[in-house]
Amino acid sequence: MTTPSWDWAYAEDGRAPWDIGRPQPAFLRLAGSGLLTGRVLDAGCGTGEHALLAASFGADDAVGIDISPRAIELARAKAAVRGVKARFQVGDALNLPDLGLTCDTIIDSGLFHVFDDVGRARYVESLAAVLRPGGTCYLMCFSDRQPGSFGPRRVTQDELRAAFRGGWTVVSIVADAFDLNPGAYGATSAHAWRAAIYRAQAGD
Ligand code: SAH
Repeated sequence: MTTPSWDWAYAEDGRAPWDIGRPQPAFLRLAGSGLLTGRVLDAGCGTGEHALLAASFGADDAVGIDISPRAIELARAKAAVRGVKARFQVGDALNLPDLGLTCDTIIDSGLFHVFDDVGRARYVESLAAVLRPGGTCYLMCFSDRQPGSFGPRRVTQDELRAAFRGGWTVVSIVADAFDLNPGAYGATSAHAWRAAIYRAQAGD
C-alpha cells in the first residue's frame, strides 16, 4: 500500500480548511494544563502548529512528522521564523517505528479520522510501537455529531474505543471543536471528539 503524499492540500499556503496558522484551542488548553510533556510526537503535524506549541510550553523534545514534504517545509520555516526548537520530518504515521524514537506524549489533531478501518488498526499499532508504556495520546477527530458530509469521515465514541482496545485505556472522550479557516467547508468550526488515551504499563 502506498500512502498518498497530501502535498495537494498544501499547494496554497494556509488554504487547507484545518491549516489555521495557530494551534487548535483544544490543544492550547492541554498545553496550558502542562500535559504536553517529555518527548512529544505530533503525528500528521501538517504545518507544525502543535509541535511548535509543545516546544513553546517546554516539552523536552518536540517532533512533528507528516507524509507531505510540502507541509514539513512549511513547518520548518515557521520554526525558524519563530525561533522555536521543534523538529520536523517527513514520515508515515502508519510506520512510526521507522523514525527510530520513542516518545512520552502523542498529539493527533485531525489524523486518525483520515484513515479507513484497515488504516486505523495499522495506525494504532504504529502508535503503540513508539509511545512508551505510561504515555498518553491526545487525539482530536471529527465527530459523528457534525452534520453534512464535507471533510473527513465522522468518528463515533464507540469507534474510538474499539480502535484503542488492548493495551490502551481510553481515559476520556469529550465533545470539543475544530476551528476551521473561514470559508473552507462553509463553516468556521466543526464538532470534534477530543480523547485522552493512555498506554498501559506493567503494574497498572
Ligand atoms: N495536525 C495538522 C494537520 C491535520 S490534517 C493540523 O492540526 O493542522 C491531516 C494531516 O495528516 C495532513 O497534514 C496530512 O498530510 C497528514 N497525513 C495523512 N496521512 C498521513 C500518514 N499516513 N502519515 C503521516 N501524515 C499523514
